[in-house]
Amino acid sequence: MSALPATENGASRRSSAATGFDHELLLVRRGPRTSAQLITAVHSTVLGPSLGGCRLWRYADLDAAIADALRLAGAMTLKAAAAGLALGGGKSVIFPPVGLALDGDARAALLADFAESLELLDGIYITAEDVGTTPEDMAVLSGYSTHVTGAPPSDGGSGDPGEFTAAGVYAGLRACARHCFGSPDLGGRSVAVVGVGRVGAPLARRLAAAGASLVLADLNPAKQELARALGAQWLPTEQALRAELDVVCPCALGGAIDRDVCRDLQARVICGSANNQLADDGLADALAERGVLYAPDFIVNAGGLISVAGEVEHRDRARVPAAIAGIEDTLARILDHARHAGITPLAAALVLARERIERASALTGADGGERMAGWSTPPSPASAAARSR
Ligand code: NAD
Repeated sequence: MSALPATENGASRRSSAATGFDHELLLVRRGPRTSAQLITAVHSTVLGPSLGGCRLWRYADLDAAIADALRLAGAMTLKAAAAGLALGGGKSVIFPPVGLALDGDARAALLADFAESLELLDGIYITAEDVGTTPEDMAVLSGYSTHVTGAPPSDGGSGDPGEFTAAGVYAGLRACARHCFGSPDLGGRSVAVVGVGRVGAPLARRLAAAGASLVLADLNPAKQELARALGAQWLPTEQALRAELDVVCPCALGGAIDRDVCRDLQARVICGSANNQLADDGLADALAERGVLYAPDFIVNAGGLISVAGEVEHRDRARVPAAIAGIEDTLARILDHARHAGITPLAAALVLARERIERASALTGADGGERMAGWSTPPSPASAAARSR
């Protein structure tokens, strides 16, 4: 396992909600069984208990691990708020000591150590899978704690969120297509999916089924098999990002859209699952100036979170697809507001998320009527702006 790239692991570029320390709580423990550093950051519980994945990663040092947990927790607050969920933002990181194996008995001990953090936090933080952890790990954790989501369906959980996240990105793509091309139909559109893992692969299958003309790219050459199966063109990442296409979907790691790609990009739309796709948030303006629609990552990649939110609230699983499909309307309203207000979609999305948190805070101090509003329609950014004036 190598170090995360700077854009996934380094200093954040997004707002005080995702940077610095404006968090409610930071718990850093040394696991008694493994000596692993176990970090949980609770950014906000204004809208409900904080929820966010547990990342298992070999960081360069403890500071980097804490910075990652803080940044990711802040981003989860924005994502849950913008999706209209009754959840706050949190994130955990397990940073194992050098030399500790990550499988077998050592993994079981790591999970037992981490489960103690969940119990200490007593439900203000609920965990889920993330980079380095699996639905099977969540099943193990749920043997120790009830504050766990995302175990396999056979264990009563909602399972791998990748498919749900892909469904949400697809809903976002429909909103983008309607906004840019006048129709939500993706049939006949040329689309590159860059990174065909747990999200990118099901997204590519959906796009192929809709009749899109596909380009796939992945660092792992074994993924070419999927390209063959879907009749997609296979290109190196750097070419796929710059190809003459309608849409690019970054579904690998963060930072795929840097200054160079922003300059060379030929697609009209960027809409993918990767967290922090823009190497810095200033690129949202540069893309808008070039007439490229950038769909904010934390809006379109919320499908997995919406799925686990249903698990937390014991919702009927049959309602999950419709709740995720609602990302199309949420993004459409953000894009309309951005167009009318002359701001970027990213700025409009941040207005939506922050206004909802501020409104809930103002209602009762912390535990407002918003708390059980999960899966409700979030306020439009326009009404948010009107109320804040
Ligand atoms: P994954 O690890 O399953 O897949 C990522 C894929 O990207 C892998 O196949 C990998 O080989 C490939 N990749 C890595 N670097 C690449 C590069 N430079 N060029 C091309 N391909 C590259 O991860 P995932 O679960 O599919 O998540 C993808 C992104 O979406 C991540 O940024 C993740 O944080 C974000 N995300 C995922 C979920 C989810 O439900 N899994 C939810 C929200 C956000």
